[in-house]
Amino acid sequence: METKIDRAAWLNGATATCNFPAVPQVKPRRLVLLGAPGVGKGTQAELLCANLGACHLSTGDIFRAAKQSGACERTPALAAALGYMRRGDLVPDETVLALVAERVNCLRCHGGFLLDGFPRTVAQAEALEKLLKRQKLKLDAVLSYELPLEEVVARLSGRRTCPGCKAVFHIEARPPKVEGICDHCGGTLYQREDDRPESIRVRMAAYEKSTAPLADFYRGRKLLVAVPAEGTPEEIFARTLKGLENGR
Ligand code: AMP
Repeated sequence: METKIDRAAWLNGATATCNFPAVPQVKPRRLVLLGAPGVGKGTQAELLCANLGACHLSTGDIFRAAKQSGACERTPALAAALGYMRRGDLVPDETVLALVAERVNCLRCHGGFLLDGFPRTVAQAEALEKLLKRQKLKLDAVLSYELPLEEVVARLSGRRTCPGCKAVFHIEARPPKVEGICDHCGGTLYQREDDRPESIRVRMAAYEKSTAPLADFYRGRKLLVAVPAEGTPEEIFARTLKGLENGR
């Protein structure tokens, strides 16, 4: 079983410390991943983290971790956020920004970071910019994964996730070695509630309205690196590394 950066401080908030923190990097990379749900950002994040030694900071994972913890540990704002998430809607900016601000130490991590699922609106991107500026930090690049809508829907409905180590599989494109079982930690794979068809439709509408304009926002700041997301995870990853290299 491989030891992964455990992201305890990110998943559980400011009072938690990571038992397996990221190793300090000479040049920590600070990246944002953009792309419609199901485009393969989670898989690319996993590959990138292993390659760069950075920590995978997914806001969706904060909400999923809260869902698994007892109801008494949830603040009212977090409990309300889980309702939005269940329906496939975006959680209000105010709640998401408060959660990220509480975790500012993760942005300062010497291993670097890979933000996945945040920012998701232009207001969140502006707030992130201010937060990083106060910490005297800058983003290196924003990777934007691009794929036609029909393919996105096919990918989402076949996606299976490990509740333990968060590894992501696909029943056809990236099946686990043993059906229903995580290759990395032996956890029982499950289908996320928001990967069901009725939630997928709401999530895609939210993406088109709120998140797609982010590409223009970052293009304007000369940070955007477009990555065609067709093909195998390895092919997409090769394009990602090339894009980062050229975007430097
Ligand atoms: P994800 O795993 O990134 O697809 O996120 C799952 C769900 O969590 C989304 O459908 C939203 O309900 C919620 N969520 C995660 N990140 C954000 C964010 N930055 N802003 C608003 N809602 C979010």
